[in-house]
Amino acid sequence: MISDSLAEGRSLLAKVQVELVSKQVDEWLSDQIHCRCCGAALRHKDRRSTVVRTVYGKVTVNSPRLWSCACQRAPRSMVHPLSKALTNRATPELKCLQAKWASHLPYRQATAMLKEVLPLDKGISFSGTRNRIRAIGKQLDADIERDIAKLPQSVADVQIRK
Ligand SMILES: [Zn+2]
Repeated sequence: MISDSLAEGRSLLAKVQVELVSKQVDEWLSDQIHCRCCGAALRHKDRRSTVVRTVYGKVTVNSPRLWSCACQRAPRSMVHPLSKALTNRATPELKCLQAKWASHLPYRQATAMLKEVLPLDKGISFSGTRNRIRAIGKQLDADIERDIAKLPQSVADVQIRK
């Protein structure tokens, strides 16, 4: 009985998320279909679909491919705004929850726990969670290295000796 209402709630959330994300993407794309330099409408090449992983499951959205504007001196190229914006096709909220729970639990348990409470079903995998944590770790290491490099040399030497 409880699992039925939980499944029902997850299903409802997933449906709301599909509507919400689709509308947000359409609204965002309406600002991307004009040239940033001259304001002319960019010509459509074609339309693809892109899967976005959200806290409430996978959402498939339309993703237009456009031609760059003729005002650009460079040879014409294809512009794919959504691919640029969604580099790893997951929302920040999902990435945050994966990172938060995977920092407390083994990857498999963190993934299973998220799937149990959210309508993720096949939206995430333990290997995806592991890869996300590794990417975050590499980014943190790079940030620390960059911050150390910015320090005055005498302070950086003291930090390294510790
Ligand atoms: Zn232009």
